[in-house]
Amino acid sequence: MAKKCTFKRGVHIPERKERTTGKPAELVPTPKQVVIPVNQHLGAPNKAIVAVGDAVKRGQVIADAASPGPMTVPVHASIAGIVKKIEVRTQSNNTEGPCIIIEEDPSVSGDVFMEPLDPFSCSKEEALKRIRDAGIVGMGGAGFPAHVKLNPPPGSKIDYIIADGAECEGYLTTDEAAISAKIDVIIKGIAILMHITGVKDALFGMEDNKEFLVPKVEKAITDGAYPGNISVRLCKTLYPQGGEKLLITALTGREVPSGALPSAAGCIVQNVGSLLAIGEAFTIGRPLIKRGLTVSGGACGHPRNIVAPIGTILADLPPEYFDIQYDKLAKIIFGGPMMGTSVPHARIPVQKNTSGVNFLTLEETYIDEEQYCIRCGRCISNCSMRLFPVLMNNALEASAFEEAQSLGIMDCIECGACTLCCPARIRLTQRFRVGKFNLRNYLASKAAHEKAKAEAAKALGEKNG
Ligand code: SF4
Ligand code: SF4
Repeated sequence: MAKKCTFKRGVHIPERKERTTGKPAELVPTPKQVVIPVNQHLGAPNKAIVAVGDAVKRGQVIADAASPGPMTVPVHASIAGIVKKIEVRTQSNNTEGPCIIIEEDPSVSGDVFMEPLDPFSCSKEEALKRIRDAGIVGMGGAGFPAHVKLNPPPGSKIDYIIADGAECEGYLTTDEAAISAKIDVIIKGIAILMHITGVKDALFGMEDNKEFLVPKVEKAITDGAYPGNISVRLCKTLYPQGGEKLLITALTGREVPSGALPSAAGCIVQNVGSLLAIGEAFTIGRPLIKRGLTVSGGACGHPRNIVAPIGTILADLPPEYFDIQYDKLAKIIFGGPMMGTSVPHARIPVQKNTSGVNFLTLEETYIDEEQYCIRCGRCISNCSMRLFPVLMNNALEASAFEEAQSLGIMDCIECGACTLCCPARIRLTQRFRVGKFNLRNYLASKAAHEKAKAEAAKALGEKNG
């Protein structure tokens, strides 16, 4: 029997998963055109390595590191066709970036996948190279390169591989659909990570709203018969359980120190979507050219779990496929409603880290006007990172960046729980997102100023003999 785990604080959010839960992921009709962002990972930028007019096959590398370094992953063509344009477009994080636009062309066909590779007999270096070459990133969040996570800093002692199947965001059921359909490959992905890192124990974490999947996961673990111990842990459904630091605490009782990576707590966490991609990169040599996502929301007449080529623009699919009711539509969110990004229009491409696209009505997005803080402390008692949101907000309002830093603003995971529970409807999370950006700029300009001052003092000293 699976054991239930949890972490302290957190909030219960409206789940709103009922419209897609239990629905299998359907492969969308192949789009006639894809818009593929050149940069879809956290790290050093890529550059396009194809030109307008080039014919490209499915699986071909079309963008790669602009300069050598570990924090890069390539990007691959997700359909076969002709490169029509390379131009700046709006991306799912609401920033502008270079994109490669490929149009399907019947004269170009075929795949250029890698040869299958036995993960259990190849070297660690070959395995990490395969994961990088497949362009795999964390598919549940910021797009951290998967191969970098699997090569923790020297001296780290890793005790657990953690599979993140918590999927705590509202509306999203894509991980659930992946676990339902491809659990054997996901378990193989876990076994590959255990083999690469030499770790003997893995924990598969899911919230208890997915308890019905436990027998399936346990059977796949038994059938896989991989070396080491893989066990399922059920967590209480509580937001933000899927955040890797919270999941580590819930499953192991360990805490990741402020500013540190999960490896500092002896853990490596991978989302189930990334584990599936890793399994497929070895077994069939397929790079990350498609992904599962949930399309839902009150303005979506046909909510679905889908699998779409990277670069798909949902608005290009036949109108009846999702039946978006534009007269009701108030907001489009890439990701879940708590941590996702509101985008200005529907012509934004699906990326490697797009877990869902939600078409929301006014009723689903309405937030009352902000009022004055009533010092109730609810934001403090609900913050799973044990921060003091009200005090951080006061510091930011006074532009006291160093005070905000000492209050731990950089540990804020921008989960939105404080905003949700604030009776004064203060947009705390939004302020912290901007505040972190401003703090980084403040620290950079302070460092530059101090460096210039030190250089001037040194020059003066040399001049005076
Ligand atoms: S302060 Fe940050 S981590 Fe804490 S509840 Fe608010 S958004 Fe989440
Ligand atoms: S929850 Fe809102 S009203 Fe209450 S202390 Fe925090 S910021 Fe103030």
